Amino acid sequence: MTFDSLGLSRALLRAVADQGYTVPTPIQAEAIPVVLTGGDLLAGAQTGTGKTAGFVLPMLQRLSSNPAAPGRGGRIPLRALILTPTRELAAQVEASVKAYGKHLRLTSCALFGGVGFGPQIAQLRRGVDILVATPGRLLDHHREGRIDFSAVEIFVLDEADRMLDMGFIVDIKRVMASLPKRRQNLLFSATFSDEIKSLADKLLDTPRMIQVTPRNSTVAGVAQRVHPVNRGDKAALLAFLIGHHRWRQVLVFTRTKHGADKLVRSLEKDGIRAVALHGNKSQNARTKALADFKKSAVEVLVATDIAARGIDIDQLPYVVNYDLPNVPEDYVHRIGRTARAGATGEAISLVCVDELGFLRDIERVIKRSIESEVVAGFEPDPDAVAQPVFAQRGRKQAGSGSWTAHREQAGARRQRVPTGTAKHASSRGHVHPAGAARDRDRASPAAQRRDASTGSRSRRQSFGR
Ligand code: AMP
Repeated sequence: MTFDSLGLSRALLRAVADQGYTVPTPIQAEAIPVVLTGGDLLAGAQTGTGKTAGFVLPMLQRLSSNPAAPGRGGRIPLRALILTPTRELAAQVEASVKAYGKHLRLTSCALFGGVGFGPQIAQLRRGVDILVATPGRLLDHHREGRIDFSAVEIFVLDEADRMLDMGFIVDIKRVMASLPKRRQNLLFSATFSDEIKSLADKLLDTPRMIQVTPRNSTVAGVAQRVHPVNRGDKAALLAFLIGHHRWRQVLVFTRTKHGADKLVRSLEKDGIRAVALHGNKSQNARTKALADFKKSAVEVLVATDIAARGIDIDQLPYVVNYDLPNVPEDYVHRIGRTARAGATGEAISLVCVDELGFLRDIERVIKRSIESEVVAGFEPDPDAVAQPVFAQRGRKQAGSGSWTAHREQAGARRQRVPTGTAKHASSRGHVHPAGAARDRDRASPAAQRRDASTGSRSRRQSFGR
């Protein structure tokens, strides 16, 4: 199939070609014709499937083929509203609106918190055709009478599941109540909880339903791997993996903001350029972190789940779960950052004994066991006792079981030492594998600290033999 067969205008086909897209992704092939008809849509699609173009392209076509009369005072009336859960996603979706609409005369603007009101107010005074917004800031402007919803024809809830997870349901309902009754509604969600179904019932009128990836399936094309490791050795193992494999553009997930900052400091001590992205950072710092990562000025972006939601980086090759998420669906979202739009990628999880419960939950949800691979020099202590892990969002804690029990349960799951690493260790006698990181001029203080530790040396020596 080609884009030409989807009924899009020449201006949009040119913009699509400018982006280098040749073949529509499955969600685009299904959603574009439906949205063009003007009907409601319920779409099950996660980030990375090309869903943004799936709703933005037909929306632009509908708005441009039916120009609206100027509103009060000659102001451009607001005709399409897209709600997203995070600032980053709002900025990205709005950038897509601009990119796909570059040969059209429609205007757009992103509204989100964490930045000054001034420029947003100025833009709203002039008016825009399309607004992409996070719910809080949108309602702030609406309460002040700066936004008129009366001409909205198309309403999109993007990543609705994450919006509900983030507690936006009341805000969403407030926005819905202010919109005109007659409008087209599009709801995109990666997962379908009962809450999402109930929201869809209220929002959508006899919607067409599209599901491009089965619920909670992990993205095809992502190679997944678990590295068992002691909880105190994770930072050193990550530095080693990055150095040894010469990884570039690694997105690393931590459970907490504090954990993200701590890991960045540790990686920097190991000579690895890293930056943290989380909710305690100012919007400017978040934008800069993302920009630096995209242009490869830093190699590692350490993010929390909420901050990373919707980050769009073309063909991100590596995603690392430094901490396993305690909500299994977050694992699916996280690894959806790699292997985007048909590319291939690797998702690596560093798992300590405390997280075995989380690992079991994830494997149950994705309906497969993840290959486990011990890295030489970082073997976990088989007798380690699990400690409780702080649990977010009131979900259950891990902290039960042991590696021995887990291996027994996993049964046929492979436990192997990667050949490159084993060769490296044996060819250098008892050298710590982080020596590989030093091979590329990265003196590793953490590795040196580890080398000075008799306990870990004896473990490595016994492996070396
Ligand atoms: P999304 O799921 O909307 O966040 O899109 C994921 C990524 O896929 C973005 O980087 C898009 O630029 C890219 N993309 C979207 N549609 C296509 C396509 N038809 N061909 C190739 N890449 C695409």
